[in-house]
Amino acid sequence: MSETRLREEICRYGRSLFERGLTPGSSGNISMKLDDGGWLVTPTNASLGFLDPARISRLDAGGRLVSGDKPTKEIPLHSALYETRGSARAIVHLHSTHAVALTMLPEIDPQAALPPMTPYYLMRAGETALVPYYRPGDPAVADAIRGLAGKYSSVLLSNHGPVVAGDSLEAAVFATEELEETAKLYLLLRNLNPRYLSSQQVADLAKTFSLDLPSLGDHEGHDHG
Ligand SMILES: [Zn+2]
Repeated sequence: MSETRLREEICRYGRSLFERGLTPGSSGNISMKLDDGGWLVTPTNASLGFLDPARISRLDAGGRLVSGDKPTKEIPLHSALYETRGSARAIVHLHSTHAVALTMLPEIDPQAALPPMTPYYLMRAGETALVPYYRPGDPAVADAIRGLAGKYSSVLLSNHGPVVAGDSLEAAVFATEELEETAKLYLLLRNLNPRYLSSQQVADLAKTFSLDLPSLGDHEGHDHG
């Protein structure tokens, strides 16, 4: 896909996410890796609903701005996930209501922020890690994401929002949407003793669809780079 097309894709998906209320105001950002090692990323203080393809920030492989507006201040979230997940080609970060709400509940497991509720959550988003709260702009958040060693394609930042990687922009957007909808289901069903997928059903999905779920199997000492 040409860079022109990729810029249009970022604007199209950004507008779709914004118009469905998945990230308010000028929150949220999207990035894509280019074949030359550089990237496209949405500008700082830009609403995802009103992006201009010509003003998207173009960075070189070293992260320097080549053209377009100044990039989002949340670049470290993206670079940390790209660094640790070699297959990632696109990353979506939103401030979506239900996913943010989930991060504030006391019972959330940092290694599996959501239970196995639906097959499509597992197939698109995999399992989700939760990292602690960091002040916006604190470089320590990138270290927290690096600390997950690329095991997770979806990460929730406490009191902030999801960061989700995909092997295409469409995959990253769809995974972010599944994560948000699953967080909504969790909140709807909380304390109602719902029946989640059994470990056998999860294992069957993982086997059938070749899912790399961190909770399955021993990841100690494996190289996920
Ligand atoms: Zn944010």
